[in-house]
Formats: sequence, structure tokens, C-alpha cells
Amino acid sequence: MSPAIAPRPGILDISPYVGGESKLSGVERIIKLSSNEGAFGPSPKAIAAMEDAAKTMHRYPDGGAIKLREAIARRFGLDAERIVCGAGSDELLSLLTYSYAGPGDEVLYTEHGFLIYPIAAKAAGATPVKAPESNLRTDVEALLDAVTDKTRIVFIANPNNPTGTYLSHAELNMLRAGLPDDVLLVIDAAYAEFVGRNDYSPGVELVNAGQNTVMTRTFSKMFGLGGMRVGWGYFPTEIADVLNRVRGPFNVSAAGQAAAIASIEDLAFQEKCFEHNLAWIAKTEAALHEMGIDTTASVANFVLARFGETSTAEKADAFLRERGIIVRRVASYDLPDCLRISIGAADEMEAFLAAMREFTGT
Ligand code: PMP
Repeated sequence: MSPAIAPRPGILDISPYVGGESKLSGVERIIKLSSNEGAFGPSPKAIAAMEDAAKTMHRYPDGGAIKLREAIARRFGLDAERIVCGAGSDELLSLLTYSYAGPGDEVLYTEHGFLIYPIAAKAAGATPVKAPESNLRTDVEALLDAVTDKTRIVFIANPNNPTGTYLSHAELNMLRAGLPDDVLLVIDAAYAEFVGRNDYSPGVELVNAGQNTVMTRTFSKMFGLGGMRVGWGYFPTEIADVLNRVRGPFNVSAAGQAAAIASIEDLAFQEKCFEHNLAWIAKTEAALHEMGIDTTASVANFVLARFGETSTAEKADAFLRERGIIVRRVASYDLPDCLRISIGAADEMEAFLAAMREFTGT
């Protein structure tokens, strides 16, 4: 047998990303609160649009995703020419990394930042570098202190997964102002639609203000289209041009485009998701506090429960699983004593809280 062909250096250092689990053996009714997928599933209008698109699935999609980009531009008041769509925002995060960082370069992210950033950095042959957070929140000064002359990209998830915390518009401005001009700032705003704070901004102003900041977004969370893989980003013209050169020519499926257009136009559905999430974040955090379990103040569609002891988090996880409830262990984010709970439907959240009351004996 001929020897295995070696990939580029760094590739085999990657630990593959593991998604939230969805099955438990021997349990019939699963309550899946492990992947931040949105409490209501997709908009019925998205399902109808997809069924319609199924009739022409032998046709290639519009490679430029023109109608989808126009629908996004209308919804958020953006320039459609500077929007690029991807097979999930993950694809765009990877393409940005491959395009702007390589061997010898550093890619900076935060202590408990989203795991795709170091994966993409290693895949590009670059070196991922972590900056410390303070109390599970991005620390702008610590990030700026970690910048070297090798730093090419800084990734910020705002709000961050799995902590649920966020940087204000003013703090994000401070970060950009403190970074050298030749460092690309990627604002990953996958959970932007859920944030109900006046001092938050997804980052459009910063993208518009210069040539070195980008914002990525997704249809996988509030819009409930995780299975369709549709993401998008807003870019300076030159960066949009780079991404349009390196992306697959038909990277977003026709059904995905159709479902995403219908979703983004369904404002009533978005309003319902937003209100439900805000109410259940508050209720879930308050109920956990009453049980003596600490949380961060999440602004996304999940809660981070902090048990203090790894063994308690493990026991709580096992207890929930026995009752068919799957939440997310976040040890791979260096948070072994925490569990992340996605906000689901009201009955699912009631079931989760009832199980936790039983677990804590409160
Ligand atoms: N960024 C963050 C912070 C996320 O949590 C996720 C989903 N887990 C993504 C990006 C990727 O989402 P998608 O590829 O489905 O758009």
C-alpha cells in the first residue's frame, strides 16, 4: 500500500467541530436545547417557498443570490452589492480566514470565543491566538494587548457563543480604533436579531466607516434555517470582491435562497421570535438564580448556567439526559463547569426548569 499523503502543516492539529447532539438512546420524546436553533422552527412561509422551489431543483441556483441579497438589503437598509451569501456564515468565516491569513500570521480571538475561529486559522496554516476575557466577557484592552505585528485577523462574536455576553457599540468602536489599519476585524453577529439592548449595534456603521471591518450574519438562528445552510455578510467593496472570487460559484442552494427570502420578509414571525426569546431568557435566568445557579446576562438565544464545579455540571447534564433533555456541555470552550441551554418553546423550557428544580431539590 502506498503511504498516506500528508495534508498541509497544521491541518491534523485541528479537533473537528462537534455540533449539538440530537439523539438519546431509549428516549422517545427528545427536548433539544443544544444548538441555538430557534424556538419555533422555520417560518411557515419559508416552508411553502421551499416546497415551491423543490419543483425546479434540477436547475442550478442563482450563483449571485441576487434576489436574496436584495431582500436582505431591504430588510436591514444595506447596499446589496456589498452583501455576499454563504453556505452558513461558517463558510464566510473560513473564506475570510483563508483569504487574509496564512503561514506565519496570527489570528486573534477571545478566551471563550466561537470554535470555528481557531479551526479556520489552523486550516489556513495560520496560528490561532487567544486573548483573555474578563468575567466571561470580551475584554477590549486584553485583545489590543495581544495584537502583534503578525496579527492579520481579529474575530469577535457579538454576542458571543457560548457566553451570551456582548460588547456595546462604543466598546466595539474602541476596539477598531485601537487596532492597526491592516488588521481585519470580523464582527460575527450570528445572534444579532435577538439582542434587545439600546447600546448594541451589529456593526454596520463600522463596516461602512472603513475598508478593514466586516460583519457576518446567519439564517440559522432566529430564522430557523440551520439545516439549509444560509449565511451572509456585509463587506467593504474590495473584500466582497475577494470573497466572490474564492467562494464556490453556487455556494447557496436554490431552496436555501427561496426559504431565506421568505423568512426575511416574514416580519411578524421575527417579532414573535424576538419577544418569546426575550421573555424566556429573563424567566430562565431568574429561575436558575432562585435555584442558586449563576448565569451570565445573556442577550442571545441561550443561557449559560455556571455551576462552579465541573462535577455538578456533569451531574446536571446526566440528570437532564435521563429525562430526554439535551443541553450543551461547553468543556471544549474551557467552560467545563457550565452548561449552555438554548431557548426553546414554552413547554420545553417549563420541562427544563422542572427538571432543574428536581435536580437542585428546590
Ligand atoms: N457564529 C457563531 C457565534 C455561532 O454560534 C454560529 C453557530 N453555532 C455560527 C457563527 C455559524 O452559524 P451558521 O454557519 O449556521 O451560519
